[in-house]
Parts: sequence; structure tokens; C-alpha cells
Amino acid sequence: MSCGDVAGHQGTLQVLKRAALTGRVPHAYLFVGPPNVGKTLVAVEFAKALNCEALTDPQTVDDIEPCDECSACVRIEKGIHPDFRLLQPTTHLEADEVDEMVQMEGAVIRIEQVRELIESASFKTNQARRRVFIITGVETMNIPAANAFLKTLEEPPGDTTFVLTTSQPSHLLPTIISRCQVLHFHPVAADVAREFLAARYPDTAPEQMDSILAMAAGRIGWAIKLLQQPDVLQIRSDLLDMCAELADAEWVECLRAGELLVDAAERWWIAGNEAEMAEKALKASRDRVLRTSMRDILDVLATWFRDLLLLSANPEADGLINMDRADQLRQLAPRYQPRKCQAACTHLQTMHAQLRQNANLRLAAENLALRLIVT
Ligand SMILES: [Zn+2]
Repeated sequence: MSCGDVAGHQGTLQVLKRAALTGRVPHAYLFVGPPNVGKTLVAVEFAKALNCEALTDPQTVDDIEPCDECSACVRIEKGIHPDFRLLQPTTHLEADEVDEMVQMEGAVIRIEQVRELIESASFKTNQARRRVFIITGVETMNIPAANAFLKTLEEPPGDTTFVLTTSQPSHLLPTIISRCQVLHFHPVAADVAREFLAARYPDTAPEQMDSILAMAAGRIGWAIKLLQQPDVLQIRSDLLDMCAELADAEWVECLRAGELLVDAAERWWIAGNEAEMAEKALKASRDRVLRTSMRDILDVLATWFRDLLLLSANPEADGLINMDRADQLRQLAPRYQPRKCQAACTHLQTMHAQLRQNANLRLAAENLALRLIVT
């Protein structure tokens, strides 16, 4: 398991490597941890370690490093190995089906996907030493799908390991959890994440790296997304400019600010997804798409008010999220009472709830802007 490709999670990697070394691999794992922390990446590396053609006679856990070059490693990486499967929640759009769209709100593991996986598991393996089926976001299975899958877990095929991942274990059937070896994934420590990312993205300015690490809060996949998508950073910057301007804004400006928020949600979606798919999804289901990415927009706004809250209580405070905006934040902080910052955070949470309840997006955005201005 290429530690070079995985940031952090050393304890978990050791557990998996030991299983690969001894050949005592459970039929099912459940990886529990926040989104974008590296669960799927580790699961794929594990599948490679179990099947790498160069790993014929490992002596110690340290030998368990997939080569990334043999046919098994390459085909697993590309997702085309016959004994490897990566099942992710998908969504149906009204006008067109876009199966690869996994990040959208309301995406689920469908029962047809589960049935197909169960059928594949009933055949003999083709080439693998050990077949690995990964199911991410397993909490999105509905009850019939979960029950169908449970039957397979109760009588697992001998040469197959299922790796299930979830950020919400409380949404799973207890009978599924009890059949799995549970491994916990924690946010990656800032210094580990910094070293890992600085080696891969050496051109990133230190201040920008600080901000990215703070925004990602140990979710390494999220940090990589920010580094790979400069447009996303530009949108963040525009949003923080807007936040700064809110301090002097008149309430009538809430319409423009609301418009800016919805516009940012659309740009965020386009920046963060493959172009053709992003367009297709926007065309077919604009409202749902914007609702999905508006959540990220609200999280960016929340970082601003958390920083102001910190500084309004203590102007010398360390630990700002938006380090690259420290000067601006320190200037603004005296104008914000802690109570005002807390109120802003509450308004952001309210909007999250409104999105879940299908409130009109534009109205909710304008309403939020108004509250942030007059609070
Ligand atoms: Zn290999």
C-alpha cells in the first residue's frame, strides 16, 4: 500500500497490510470517517496490495507495497479489473441519466447495482488472488437494497472481500455493521497533510497552502480538489470579498448578494466537475445541482464568520482558517461583536436546513444575505 500515495492513516494501513501479509483477510470491512478523508483511496490501494503481481513473497508488513505497474495494479487503478469493482452512489436526472455523477445530493446506491454486484460475487474469480468489491456511501442504500446485500454478507463467497465506506455509520443496519471489521479514518493531521501536499504541489504559495489546509480540516481529498481546481479558489476569494463588503452594505444590496451566492454555486459546480457532465447535469436538473453546491458555498462563508468570531473574542488569536486574509479580518473584527458572528453562523445553518426542506434557492440566498447584512 503505497504510503507515498496515502497521506496519514498509518495505523489503518498497518492493520490492512498485516491482513494482506498473513492472508487472513476478513470478508468485509467497514471504513468509517468523514467525506474526502481518503477511505476510497485506501480501499483501492488495499485491492492492489492483495493482487499485485510483483508481491509474490512478502516477508514483513513493510513489503506490502503494490508496484503500481503490473497488469493487476494498473487495471485496478483504472477500474477495469474483472475481479474488482468500485460501486458509488449515483443519481438519475430528470432528462438524462448521468451515472458517473456521484457527488450530487440525493445520490444513492440503487438496488439494481447491489443485485448486479451480488450476482458477480456468486461467480468464480477470474484472475484475482482475492476479489475486492468496494461500495462507497453505503448508508445511501435503501432498506430493500441493504437487506439483499446483507444476505450476501451472511454467506460471503470465500475469495471475496467487500470494503464498505461510510461517513454516517448510524444510518446503517446494525446487522451489516456486525458482519464487518470496522476501521476508523480520522482527519489527517495538519503537518502530515502539509508535507504530503507540499511535495506534490511545490508551486503553491505557503499562505495559500495554509488556507487550503485549514479549509480542508484534515480531509485530504478536499485539499487536493482545491489545489487542482484553481477556479474553486477564485470563487472562494470572491465569496470572502463579498463577506468583507457585507460589513458596510445597505440592506437593499441583499438582492445582489443573493444573486452572487447563486452564481457562485453554479461556478463552483462547473469548476469542480468534468465539463461535459457538469453542463449536462445543469441542463437536466439545475435546481438540484445548485442546491448541492450551495452547501459548499455556505461552508466557505462559515469559515469567514468563524474567523471573525475568534478575533472578536481575542484580537491576537491564532488558528485562523483564512490565514491569507488575516490582515483584512483583523481590521474588520473590532466591528463585529461575538454575538453578531454567532448569529451569522446560525443563519448559515438555517440555510442548510432550508436547502434540505426544498426552499426556493434564490429566495433563501437573498434572505441569508439580508440577515448577514442587518444582523
Ligand atoms: Zn502491482
